[in-house]
Amino acid sequence: MNVIKEKFENLKSKSGSHSPSINSILKEIPEIQIEVDACFLSNPYATQLFLDYFKNDLIKTGKIDRVLEFYPSQNNVIAKSISKSIGIDAKNIFVCNGAIEGIQAVIHNLLHGKLSIPIPTFSSYYEYCHKNIEAIYYNLKKEEDYALNLKNYSAFIKENKINNAVIINPNNPNGSYISSEDLKEFLEEHRDLDAIILDESFIHFAYENSSMRLKSMQNSISDYKNLFIVKSMSKDFGIAGLRCGYLLMNEEYVSQFLRNGYLWNVNGIAEYFFTLYGNEKFLKEYEDCRKKYIMETLFFVNQLTELKNINVLPSKANFVLVELIDGRTSDEVSAKLLVDHGIYVRNCSDKIGLDGQYLRIAARSFDENQKIFRALAQL
Ligand SMILES: *Cc1c(COP(=O)(O)O)cnc(C)c1O
Repeated sequence: MNVIKEKFENLKSKSGSHSPSINSILKEIPEIQIEVDACFLSNPYATQLFLDYFKNDLIKTGKIDRVLEFYPSQNNVIAKSISKSIGIDAKNIFVCNGAIEGIQAVIHNLLHGKLSIPIPTFSSYYEYCHKNIEAIYYNLKKEEDYALNLKNYSAFIKENKINNAVIINPNNPNGSYISSEDLKEFLEEHRDLDAIILDESFIHFAYENSSMRLKSMQNSISDYKNLFIVKSMSKDFGIAGLRCGYLLMNEEYVSQFLRNGYLWNVNGIAEYFFTLYGNEKFLKEYEDCRKKYIMETLFFVNQLTELKNINVLPSKANFVLVELIDGRTSDEVSAKLLVDHGIYVRNCSDKIGLDGQYLRIAARSFDENQKIFRALAQL
């Protein structure tokens, strides 16, 4: 058993600031039986929905041949499918090979000066800063459960003469949420910034009232030239392997990017996904998956709050940050969950900006959630 733990530690140290993927764990340590992957943050019902469509439309009909053999459409053509789904002009849509590609494109090509980044955060935002752009950390406060207080953030930006800002809503790794009302105020107050990067990769899991409608800021794109909205499809649609994402931004920036590259950056199966994204029937079924998953996530998180040795931070995403408050370390507990129970959670010991021992636990299907809950209760 200790051998397994050692191998796991080795693998983890090789994968930098992201967790080793479930595939690399299974490949390197075949002795481990992973039953539940609660590290990856996706809606499993949406994956199943996509797979059903994929099999019916591409596999059963044999159309998959053409998807593999031929070039996919170019970036600006795929943008039109997305436009149909979200009602934003295709000229403002930069389609990406995963949202991460768009984040990299913006940071490397457009930004200069200082970029404020609330931490803890999704690490790519500071890892991609180099040469022309300096990452300035804004520490979220433990006593505020790492929620972003926009008034204080505004003051910080002004005091430090910062010209670019990142906001992730809901935030990763803690899931704290900012209302669209407050975001509007922030955008209005910071028209002078060069860029505001608003990452809405988890917005489908958030809602502001019992209708559970999601509240994207996408319609503000036409009002704020400095606004960049980042949208990954990996988590909400459960298709990280396809690499689908897009950025909404001022059309000048989109055409600048497309003049210099990114022509065929989206593969054929990803293109197929984006045609579904503009398909009414698919979207209606997806909406049912989304709500079902949110309801089950709520139930699961309520269960977790009953456990005495952990502190569950408030979240409007599909995961929770859990603080271990009985003196055990996140290294110890995450290894134990994996080796003894086959449950893989995100050990946050490497996340900068977190003060304490934290695990990030994603909600999965109802049955998987129950396995996670029972394992944690036993521990
Ligand atoms: C996962 C994630 C991304 C990147 O998603 P991909 O589309 O898979 O590249 C971007 N931002 C945040 C906050 C994420 O958690």
